[in-house]
Amino acid sequence: MNNIKTIAIIGGGFCGTMTLIQLIKQSESAVNLVLINKIDNSPRGIAYSTYNSKHVLNVPAAKMSAFPDEPDHFINWIKSKPDYKDFIDDELPDTFLPRNIYGHYLDEIYNSVINNLPEFINLKIIIDEAIDVNVSENGAEIILKNSEPLFADKIVLALGNFIPDNPKILDNSFFNSDKYFQNPWQKESVLNLERDGSVLIIGTGLTMVDNVISLTDNGFNGKIYAVSTNGYFPLSHKKRKPYTDIIEELHPPYEISKLFSIFRRHIKHVLSKGITGEAVVDAVRPKTQEIWLSLSLNDKIRFMSHIRHLWGVARHRLPKNIYFQMQDLISKGRLEIIGGRLKELKEISGMVYVVIKERKNQELREFIVNRVINCTGPMTDISRIDLPLISNLYKKGLITHDEMKLGINALPDGTVIQKDNSVSPFLFTIGSLLKGILWESTAVPELRVQAKALAGELISHTDLRSKLKQ
Ligand SMILES: Cc1cc2nc3c(=O)[nH]c(=O)nc-3n(C[C@H](O)[C@H](O)[C@H](O)COP(=O)(O)OP(=O)(O)OC[C@H]3O[C@@H](n4cnc5c(N)ncnc54)[C@H](O)[C@@H]3O)c2cc1C
Repeated sequence: MNNIKTIAIIGGGFCGTMTLIQLIKQSESAVNLVLINKIDNSPRGIAYSTYNSKHVLNVPAAKMSAFPDEPDHFINWIKSKPDYKDFIDDELPDTFLPRNIYGHYLDEIYNSVINNLPEFINLKIIIDEAIDVNVSENGAEIILKNSEPLFADKIVLALGNFIPDNPKILDNSFFNSDKYFQNPWQKESVLNLERDGSVLIIGTGLTMVDNVISLTDNGFNGKIYAVSTNGYFPLSHKKRKPYTDIIEELHPPYEISKLFSIFRRHIKHVLSKGITGEAVVDAVRPKTQEIWLSLSLNDKIRFMSHIRHLWGVARHRLPKNIYFQMQDLISKGRLEIIGGRLKELKEISGMVYVVIKERKNQELREFIVNRVINCTGPMTDISRIDLPLISNLYKKGLITHDEMKLGINALPDGTVIQKDNSVSPFLFTIGSLLKGILWESTAVPELRVQAKALAGELISHTDLRSKLKQ
């Protein structure tokens, strides 16, 4: 009987690909690896397959190595590429490079690994959508949309971000309109617009900024409204010395009220020294997962209701040049940031009628736009996600949502916890699906660590090391 184990990874973006690469690096005996990717044979995923070369990374180059134990890997790769020589200067580590350059980097890593496989690794790459998993006695069978089912001993769900949920408005029929773009990452959201028309962007974060960049880049000269409940606008990255004074005060047991007062005190302190408050957020980041893991459910709910948006503004910042580009559009009246609640969207005579209840005066504001783009951020409640794989696994109880409905319930190492609260013997997850468990589970600096650890975990589960040592 063939007892070589099969590990299948569903999703071949950054997380799936880096888990695969770490499995190849760490395996010491025969293993079947399968990578299933819905759209193409590229590890770029949503973030690094962007259609616009002006969409930049929101993490500086120095922190974007794909490998946790080779921190200069990305920087050295850039330096080795004559095409990118214009970026090579003393500022390179702090530069926010175009995201499609990072896509090129991932393509090269991926191709070099799969073209130089160790003999004992059997790799199968399938371009297809996984739509279901049937559990059998010995493992699981992955059901694919267009190909034969596939047996696996262990399965990793590396599915990335889901398109944003529709906002709550008076009449949902608007969401069938061709004036509405629910997916803000596709280039169609910014194409075929009248030059002097107007656009409403729902959401005021980094994806809004990407869309504004693309619209203006395409020659759009009209007015862009962007609305979010608070109307916060992303802050700018600043070069400054790390602030670490807060760290020694951060230790368990963590409580949100205590943390909040420590935070406030330190923010006051840094402001008095002429440093901006984001320095405190940056200082706390290495501890965020530890803090989140030990907060009570009530405290997590309090964080989500009162602090989440402020945290987001301080945490997800813009490169300086893009920040000033946006401020310039704001000062010219071409971009208006509105704090308020979206009430109504209705298509009337080929235009969209918008009603917003403004935060500043609680009054209703009405205007007309040509198009609406949803930039509210990825949908996270898996009980409502209308994708075959997610809804089938959810219906079978093989996955369930975490207590905050931010992703899949799991152990911090990615082992899935099923609906009946038992630990799944074969399902694992990684990346943004772990947001409810780890909170900080979004960007390359933490995802590369997860990929390495998960590969180690899978290998120990499938006994690939001990066999060699016997
Ligand atoms: C627009 C954007 C910009 C970002 N910019 C940065 C940045 O500058 N720096 C940073 O560190 N992080 C950034 N991020 C965070 C980003 O989420 C991570 O860096 C990383 O790309 C996430 O990788 P992933 O594998 O989880 O998701 P993805 O890269 O999106 O990959 C998921 C893959 O799974 C496939 N898939 C999904 N379902 C199925 C299925 N049922 N069957 C088969 N295949 C399936 C998808 O087709 C996709 O290829 C950005 C995110 C977004 C959305």
